[in-house]
Amino acid sequence: MGANDMHRRKQAIEAQLIAEMFSPVRCNRCRGVYDLGKVEVTARYSDCTVFKTPCCGSVADDRTWKGRPDFTQIDKDDPRGGDPWLRAAMMRGEI
Ligand SMILES: [Zn+2]
Repeated sequence: MGANDMHRRKQAIEAQLIAEMFSPVRCNRCRGVYDLGKVEVTARYSDCTVFKTPCCGSVADDRTWKGRPDFTQIDKDDPRGGDPWLRAAMMRGEI
């Protein structure tokens, strides 16, 4: 199996995982996908919740309005179109 096949397989698995998630997001640090509904919350503040990302173990919070958010929400109804990385892969015919 070549590197491209591996990459394609990883994307197919990821698309399947996204479909099963409660609130899928993409990590802006490592580009991993995780379920916001299943993160380990480490602190709660009045304006945000702090948690540890399951993908790379970074400390993240849910302030999507800050300059560089820790994650990008993935639209479950349009998981590929809503995500530039997945959309690009789809346009290349990889998924
Ligand atoms: Zn990550």
